[in-house]
Amino acid sequence: IKSTTVPNVDGSVNTEEEDEEDVVDLAANSLLNKLIRQSLVESSHRVEVLQKDPSSPLYSVKTFEELRLKEELLKGIYAMGFNRPSKIQEMALPMMLAHPPQNLIAQSQSGTGKTAAFVLAMLSRVNVLELFPQCLCLAPTYELALQTGRVVEQMGKFCVDVQVMYAIRGNRIPRGTDITKQIIIGTPGTVLDWCFKRKLIDLTKIHVFVLDEADVMIDTQGFSDQSIRIQRALPTECQMLLFSATFEDSVWQFAERIIPDPNVIKLRKEELTLNNIRQYYVLCENRKDKYQALCNIYGGITIGQAIIFCQTRRNAKWLTVEMMQDGHQVSLLSGELTVEQRASIIQRFRDGKEKVLITTNVCARGIDVKQVTIVVNFDLPVNQAQEPDYETYLHRIGRTGRFGKKGLAFNMIEVDKLPLLMKIQDHFNSSIKQLDPEDMDEIE
Ligand code: ADP
Repeated sequence: IKSTTVPNVDGSVNTEEEDEEDVVDLAANSLLNKLIRQSLVESSHRVEVLQKDPSSPLYSVKTFEELRLKEELLKGIYAMGFNRPSKIQEMALPMMLAHPPQNLIAQSQSGTGKTAAFVLAMLSRVNVLELFPQCLCLAPTYELALQTGRVVEQMGKFCVDVQVMYAIRGNRIPRGTDITKQIIIGTPGTVLDWCFKRKLIDLTKIHVFVLDEADVMIDTQGFSDQSIRIQRALPTECQMLLFSATFEDSVWQFAERIIPDPNVIKLRKEELTLNNIRQYYVLCENRKDKYQALCNIYGGITIGQAIIFCQTRRNAKWLTVEMMQDGHQVSLLSGELTVEQRASIIQRFRDGKEKVLITTNVCARGIDVKQVTIVVNFDLPVNQAQEPDYETYLHRIGRTGRFGKKGLAFNMIEVDKLPLLMKIQDHFNSSIKQLDPEDMDEIE
């Protein structure tokens, strides 16, 4: 058991909270991605399509006009600044809008246009003259449901008679209320409650069912089963759509249980690579020493923007204070911040308002800050067993081969951690050179 009061060598005191590593919260990361997203994410891969009926013709569209949408919906799309369908939308939209409706499982990384696609499908299938829930979208959290709702509101800006309602905890609706809104977005638990216990929604009248963020969904206890119970009560002619950013076997198994006779669309992610990254390490005695090495690097080369990774919140906080005291403009991104606070820090960093971002693992995944040329591992990523965490290493410093610029990565290594670094080097079969922090000529 850890004591919370024994001071460290440098006089600071640990609290257990701060010693914790920030765990990656899938739903929070997904929300963060949505909050900071500025544009579509590209992929150089081709969209893979698996049709439920391979003999039926395969349509793809290059323009939104080809979809023959309602005028007001098309206006909404253009008002959002969309000029043409994204890569995944080119294939997905014709399937989603086909008559008779087709079921779809679609996987592509976040930012590729999935939400916009199913929102468009829901809006185009709503019958505005009928005042009851017709489209049902399940999301893993309250906040993610609100984000999707926001897209419905934006895209449906000119569809004046279409209305959205949120089936999320805290939204109390008196028993017996007659829900007249056509689109319901909610979390599985509350939706289940509204459907079966409180009988606010008649599932037999739903004609579009969307399950968004399936990978995040199955990560939450109970959500798979609740979603399946909801799905079982839908009419057979209801269109069923499932989206996921990743596709492990578990997601796939869930998708197949919940979506009957699906078409499947996949857009592979740009692979991360270390090929265009020059990697260095500096041998250090202790934390102070690491900090000194970092300062030398700072003094030695021209740095645009840098991200510095620490393993614990405590280390991250310590480093932030040190750097600030030395007059650097840094900001700290760690797990105790709310998602909105994190989003605003990342946004400021993106805008170049801060030059250095110090963080724990919270931001290692999924968030790309393209202009960053330097990544520092102030601590090596290790797992519970104190073995190297290869995946996190790759996520921290890897770039996508096609879109990424060349980068520099520095690892601050205590002597006893050197074997871990060598394992990383072997694992990726890429060289990590030792650097004398007094001599930066090596780099430039
Ligand atoms: P996903 O659901 O896959 O994460 P989104 O639908 O949220 O992706 O789209 C990612 C970002 O790209 C959003 O900012 C969205 O407004 C924008 N976007 C989506 N489709 C298009 C398009 N066809 N053209 C331009 N921008 C788009």
